[in-house]
Amino acid sequence: MAFPRSLSEGYRRYRRDHCVEDRGRFEQLASLGQAPTALVIACCDARVQPQTIFDAEPGALFVIRNVANLVPPFEESGRYHGTSAAIEYAVLHLKVPHVIVLGHSHCGGIAAYRENRHKDAAENGFISEWMSILDAAEELPETAEAGADDQRKMEIAGIRLSLANLRSFRPLSERAAEGCLSLHGAHYDIATGTLSVLDETGNRLVAVGEA
Ligand SMILES: [Zn+2]
Repeated sequence: MAFPRSLSEGYRRYRRDHCVEDRGRFEQLASLGQAPTALVIACCDARVQPQTIFDAEPGALFVIRNVANLVPPFEESGRYHGTSAAIEYAVLHLKVPHVIVLGHSHCGGIAAYRENRHKDAAENGFISEWMSILDAAEELPETAEAGADDQRKMEIAGIRLSLANLRSFRPLSERAAEGCLSLHGAHYDIATGTLSVLDETGNRLVAVGEA
């Protein structure tokens, strides 16, 4: 099957509008390496694009995307820990000053979890195990946000649990304790484009002002 035409055309537009005009900037990125402002842990959902939401240039964001923007708890088993390896690289080697867990509305992974659809291990071998990370969210107090429906409550719980799991990575929590690293929870609403962040209580989302 041929390479998708919409993508090759998109690439040509990208190359014409960015690579050619900003050649110096790209060469600088190549020679100086990356020094991103933040590590963003987002969902794979095609509707949630961190670089677009934050209007970020190449080099600005180190992005991990996985099903339901989850951070697994720290563990030392000899498995293939893709998300944990990327977190380790961003925090310990690139020394990012910020980590943002970016949840979103209408998350299919969260909806499947709520409806127990993820437990069909025959169909969802990897997803089933991955989404079980959320089981520990039961121990979190319910969000203080008024009017949140069950889907939004679970999306918020997933963000909070991932932040808690981030803190279980000892080198990361040490950098946070030294004041070298800030952890943030955020949520993006697909229908309205509203970005909200967890407030200082860590239990309620507040919309980011447009000013
Ligand atoms: Zn999602």
